[in-house]
Amino acid sequence: MKAHDGMYIDGAWRPAASGETIDVVNPVDEQVIDRVPAGTAADVDTAVRAARAALPGWAATPPAERAARLAALRDVLVTRKDEIAETVTAELGSPLAFSQAVHAGVPIAVAGSYAELAATHAFEEKVGNSTVYQEPIGVVGAITPWNYPLHQIVAKVAPALAAGCTVVLKPAEDTPLTAQLFAEAVDEAGIPAGVFNLVTGLGPIAGQALAEHPGVDLVSFTGSTAVGRRIGATAGAAVKKVALELGGKSANVILPSADLAKAVNVGVANVMSNSGQTCSAWTRMLVHRDQYDEAVELAATAAAKYGARIGPVVNAKQQARVRSYIEKGVAEGARLVAGGLESPSPQGYFISPTVFADVTPDMTIAQEEIFGPVLSILRYDDEDDAVRIANGTVYGLAGAVWAGEEAEAVAFARRLETGQVDINGGRFNPRAPFGGYKQSGVGRELGAHGLSEYLQTKSLQF
Ligand code: NAP
Ligand code: MG
Repeated sequence: MKAHDGMYIDGAWRPAASGETIDVVNPVDEQVIDRVPAGTAADVDTAVRAARAALPGWAATPPAERAARLAALRDVLVTRKDEIAETVTAELGSPLAFSQAVHAGVPIAVAGSYAELAATHAFEEKVGNSTVYQEPIGVVGAITPWNYPLHQIVAKVAPALAAGCTVVLKPAEDTPLTAQLFAEAVDEAGIPAGVFNLVTGLGPIAGQALAEHPGVDLVSFTGSTAVGRRIGATAGAAVKKVALELGGKSANVILPSADLAKAVNVGVANVMSNSGQTCSAWTRMLVHRDQYDEAVELAATAAAKYGARIGPVVNAKQQARVRSYIEKGVAEGARLVAGGLESPSPQGYFISPTVFADVTPDMTIAQEEIFGPVLSILRYDDEDDAVRIANGTVYGLAGAVWAGEEAEAVAFARRLETGQVDINGGRFNPRAPFGGYKQSGVGRELGAHGLSEYLQTKSLQF
């Protein structure tokens, strides 16, 4: 994939308003691999106007035709699967096999699910003497992070297009090449000009301009709590709908009846995957005190096997941030049983897969999102204690429960203040609603629930 030196606006690659550029860096070797234009408020304005102009036509397009365009988009993504994986690997640093299976594979599944949902969703229903129409909210401003660069884009753009909305996307500055590739795919899929627009650029400049633009009807943001809070405040002041996905500190609760080795090994793999840069990662493992020492040993052994194979974190700033959390863990008295500050590679933004034991619920590493390959193992006395610890953070995005019997795990999961729980290692479902309780965010993505975020209702009475 060769970088474009323009913005994809109104169906064509157009020159950016300013000559500023952003360097794209490969986190494995720290080399600059490409440059993309740094968009400004002027580019955002052009893009929003294009999206607004395209809105009436796309909103009036029959859902079956929108579905056909989304199916075409999915097919282009399938055709370009290898290129997607290589691009994500180049700018995010994730191992190629993971990029193929997850970074390319999941967005294809999600795009396919919205091709189907657009065709089958009831955009109209009868309620007594009324007909209720579900209509697109309008122009969507989508702001996405780098951790799952294509998935985060598709999880917003596909439902928005299925709903009949038009979109302006501001992707993360670290992963703009994947976003440009997506724009090429949209173009190839025959989605009409102006329905999807891309402005690459920096968050505080292009991102902020998009979030504040009066021509945007809904802002959908995924990223840090600090930025999300600001975007929520801006949207609130403008009486604009907002969707926020802000990360988590999810608990992996291993009940005494569970298969301990399996639960620990899957739990460690979950945290190390994507170098720990997953908002729903189970970064707190909760183990009964009688099984605690055995679990710690199993986890330390499992983590040590990963080494540099997990890939680096995305950039130098994230590397420094994750290291500072490791230092804080040690300083607050947690016991390092795997990994630590030493990098497994002389070059690149690597962090050693790290496991802390003797972590108590009040420690910083048990409360804050680290966003790196760092696992904290906590001890609980009984089930009530486990529920209290699991629910004892400001977040509530995801979690896991392991037990001998599914029913026992389900009963426990129902007590968790969180949006998703995997039971005994349940598989990822691209149609299940994804989103947070508490400060993990507002709104849901994926599946039918994700589609309804982009719809508003109109009732006609007869
Ligand atoms: P971030 O700054 O919140 O980035 C997310 C997106 O928002 C990016 O596109 C970013 O642009 C943009 N942005 C930044 N400032 C903005 C502003 N003032 N107005 C509008 N948009 C703005 O997150 P980050 O700095 O990449 O990562 C920091 C931490 O956030 C991580 O360590 C992690 O804890 C959390 N995080 C969570 C998720 C998640 O999935 N929930 C994903 C990534 C990060 P730029 O790329 O130019 O900054
Ligand atoms: Mg940032």
